[in-house]
Amino acid sequence: MTELLLGQVLRYTSDPFDHGLGAARVDEALVIEAGRIRAVGSADTLRRQHPDARVTDYGRNLISAGFVDAHVHYPQTAIIASWGKRLIDWLNSYTFPEEMRFSNLPYAQDVANRYFDLTVSNGTTSVCSYATIHPESVDAFFTAAARRNQRVWAGKTCMDRNAPDALRDTAQSAYDDSKALLAKWHGQGRASYVITPRFSPTSSEVQLAAMGALWAEHPDCLMQTHLSEQTDEIAWVKSLFPTARDYLDTYERHGLLGKGALLGHAIWLEEREKSRILETDASLIHCPTSNTFIGSGLFDMGGLKAAGHRIGLATDTGGGSSFSMLRTMAAAYEVGQLKGRALHPSELWWLATAGSARALHADDQIGTIAPGREADLVVVDLASTPAIAQATQRAEDLWQALFPTIMMGDDRAIRATYVAGARVHSR
Ligand SMILES: [Zn+2]
Repeated sequence: MTELLLGQVLRYTSDPFDHGLGAARVDEALVIEAGRIRAVGSADTLRRQHPDARVTDYGRNLISAGFVDAHVHYPQTAIIASWGKRLIDWLNSYTFPEEMRFSNLPYAQDVANRYFDLTVSNGTTSVCSYATIHPESVDAFFTAAARRNQRVWAGKTCMDRNAPDALRDTAQSAYDDSKALLAKWHGQGRASYVITPRFSPTSSEVQLAAMGALWAEHPDCLMQTHLSEQTDEIAWVKSLFPTARDYLDTYERHGLLGKGALLGHAIWLEEREKSRILETDASLIHCPTSNTFIGSGLFDMGGLKAAGHRIGLATDTGGGSSFSMLRTMAAAYEVGQLKGRALHPSELWWLATAGSARALHADDQIGTIAPGREADLVVVDLASTPAIAQATQRAEDLWQALFPTIMMGDDRAIRATYVAGARVHSR
């Protein structure tokens, strides 16, 4: 069936960090057919070309590509907004006890379903998640996503040291389990497997090398890990890897740096690290609500984007304090302000959609509205609360109308969410 959606259709034709306001344009309508966007343009033209289409008129609501959350830990759904810890304490006090529960498949399934319900109601259509060390946690995630037909990425988190006994694998079992899960899930429908060593402190050199070997065997997979989140973490890494040139080198020397690497946080980068990341075209994933919540530091979006880095945006649930990419954009704006670079609403929105899709090397499939792209969409009410409605009243352009929703909006602003052309949430 053909569907015609009417509204303010926001789409990007390039990166607004490079091309400013010319990177985005607003159309009046789009056509969905067989799960994909067939056409974008004026309402009159598309109505005429598709007289039999079912029409949904969203009026002045914004229609955008769905949000793409490039770094989450779905198993931390239940511990989001736990009080008062920094990174290493956070892991030991909250994360590890919760992650132990994911050896139980029904529990993992329950959390995975809850996680997707929460994110879809926040307009997020794609996520890239860490699971736990348990294969059950990966199966639960991909099964729940497949039921919703969502384009997702995930992998078994690998840890063979500096974690509780019940959360440790070995270099060999991490390799074997990851390989089996990759064979089972990668490329099945809209699922992609991601090779996932948690971070250098919890992987031995042998395990990091095993992950590097697996990635070399499957270069079409992405590889995700954490990098330079907190200063005491970096000092720990240096004590664990005394011969490494820097934190990045603990990955680089084991074959875990390259195009398709997703490096979460990347706050305290040294000059060599920045230039090697740029040379290898690895992706940096900015997690602003997590960085302020756990007290990690301020990501240099302005400097890193200007240098040409490939950057995505993410909630880092549950170290991050929200499931909402609107709240995440607001935090990115605030972090940018503290670094002296006021990110334009066009740049923030691009990061949460096309930028994250590009960081995941999926920008030819999702992240923007264009003919042929998968029809993952969010419809946003730009007057969802009295506070936002009064602030947008005098707006003179779309960006002025949108910015109060970026700063103050939440799931009440999400009028509808579409996955592969099907409306999966509305309010
Ligand atoms: Zn993380």
